[in-house]
Amino acid sequence: MLETATRTHDVLHFINGEYTEGTSGATFENRSPVDGSLIGLVHEAKEAEVDAAVQAARAALKGPWGRMPLAERVEILYRVADGINARFEEFLAAECRDTGKPRSLARHIDIPRGAANFKIFADVIKNVPAESFRMDTPDGAGALNYAIRVPKGVIGVIAPWNLPLLLMTWKVGPALACGNTVVVKPSEETPTTAALLGEVMNEAGVPRGVYNVIQGFGPDSAGEFLTRHPGVDAITFTGETRTGTAIMKAAADGVRDVSFELGGKNPAIIFADCDLDKAIEGTMRSVFANCGQVCLGTERVYVERPIFDEFVARLKAGAESLKLGRPEDEEANMGPLISKEHQRKVLGYYQKARELGATVVTGGGVPDMPGELRNGAWVEPTIWTGLGDDSPIMREEIFGPCCHISPFDSEDEVIERANDTEYGLACAIWTENLAKAHRTAARVESGLTWINSWFLRDLRTPFGGSKQSGIGREGGVHSLEFYSELRNICVKL
Ligand code: NAD
Repeated sequence: MLETATRTHDVLHFINGEYTEGTSGATFENRSPVDGSLIGLVHEAKEAEVDAAVQAARAALKGPWGRMPLAERVEILYRVADGINARFEEFLAAECRDTGKPRSLARHIDIPRGAANFKIFADVIKNVPAESFRMDTPDGAGALNYAIRVPKGVIGVIAPWNLPLLLMTWKVGPALACGNTVVVKPSEETPTTAALLGEVMNEAGVPRGVYNVIQGFGPDSAGEFLTRHPGVDAITFTGETRTGTAIMKAAADGVRDVSFELGGKNPAIIFADCDLDKAIEGTMRSVFANCGQVCLGTERVYVERPIFDEFVARLKAGAESLKLGRPEDEEANMGPLISKEHQRKVLGYYQKARELGATVVTGGGVPDMPGELRNGAWVEPTIWTGLGDDSPIMREEIFGPCCHISPFDSEDEVIERANDTEYGLACAIWTENLAKAHRTAARVESGLTWINSWFLRDLRTPFGGSKQSGIGREGGVHSLEFYSELRNICVKL
């Protein structure tokens, strides 16, 4: 009988359609970031478990999945999406238990998008056009070239903890739509929803071995063993730029393809002619949503001088009105950070900002939480001013509910300052002058730019980072570039 992944809140691997503890005998604790309580034990994969998962995925390529007509595969992916929605509350509870994020947030973003990622790529693959070229050169007159799209093989999927189900399915959806099989390594912080998805896959009729999950850490654990496994044909990764560097080195053996969605140090540019209410509302979300743990979130805010003081005062008021609380607290709009370890990192930046002479507009410490919540990974929403662009607070990704606000005086100046970073993931521009908005957007070095909005996502559009924020683009047909291969066939008639 199938082991239920969340029965005891212990989490197993999912290999070849079955839950298993594996043979490594190693486990680690999954603790709640809300109050430090033990959620359960997670079984850790070592080489043997990783190998079993990769072998299962390789075998499945040759099995029914590899021979399945596209229409049938698409129907199965629809059923996976429906299966997530049918067990919505279960996924919601598991995701919020692991991350501590407010249910009100995960209910509107994480879980629905987790399901939508299967539907959208099922639709994309149904409608993708094929290319053909008829030659008219003397030697090739009448020859016909056409390209066929084939799966890449076994895809290693390595996911982060900030939007666990959403970001993992953003990769698994297109990988399966293209006919690949996957071995997923969720973050050690958030193992549960990837495991739970195994049950949905089985219920939806996904053949054994197509979707596999191995639990564990990165170095010297499931992540590293997966990226080094020669049976993995390509690796898609979302996480820190530093980790991406290590994975790229591993992928070099065997010249395997990578798709990377990495870190950011994203600017928001607020021009004096913006609609200030909207700019405040959007910046509040881009700085504090998910406790600041969003790769697309804003950590550098540049405000045109005439409205600087008013902007700072209003963002401060907004930050101070945020309600921190447990995931089940429907009034709460901010949860804890993901872990005590991450709390130490973020508080380290809070201290460094003070030492560097920042003006702490609000926050800067640990909030006074009641009862057992004191054991959680809580930090105060924090705003600074007064630091220069070369300060570590302005250059390094903090990944917490905080931002630094700087004044600027001209369009050229702010673009240069916004671009003065090794990252290039996202930018938000706020102005009612459309010409200025387009002009600025074209000059900002970032993969995604929002004008008068933030986190507005059409899943058909290209998603990815410039500079050290990533390699490649995923989303809509762009995902096909990575998850499938075009083979050209030339026919001389
Ligand atoms: P992380 O890099 O620490 O970990 C991500 C995953 O990689 C985890 O599953 C981890 O176990 C694994 N890992 C770590 N070392 C590894 C190794 N040597 N080999 C193989 N796997 C390894 O990132 P995180 O802390 O989980 O997530 C936060 C980071 O992710 C931030 O930098 C954030 O900006 C980034 N992020 C980027 C995007 C994007 O779309 N660009 C989206 C979300 C998060």
